[in-house]
Amino acid sequence: MSFNQKKRFIAGAVCPKCSEMDKIMVYNKEGQDYRECVSCGFSDEMHFKQQVRELDTRVNKTEEEKQADVQVLQFPPLDK
Ligand SMILES: [Zn+2]
Repeated sequence: MSFNQKKRFIAGAVCPKCSEMDKIMVYNKEGQDYRECVSCGFSDEMHFKQQVRELDTRVNKTEEEKQADVQVLQFPPLDK
């Protein structure tokens, strides 16, 4: 499945970031499909293809996971 370069909305699509409906646009850039939320600016690549590709190693971290990493790096307060 592929879109042409003209952006268009997907009816009923829900933004994974801000949960707004009908704010997702899709477009094609250099052979790769992207989606973009006009409400919050979220965008990422789309992977419609049925074949399982080895992309799971490039897992994008959620904001919560990023914050968890920061918390791990924090030092405990000094007792003195
Ligand atoms: Zn959004």
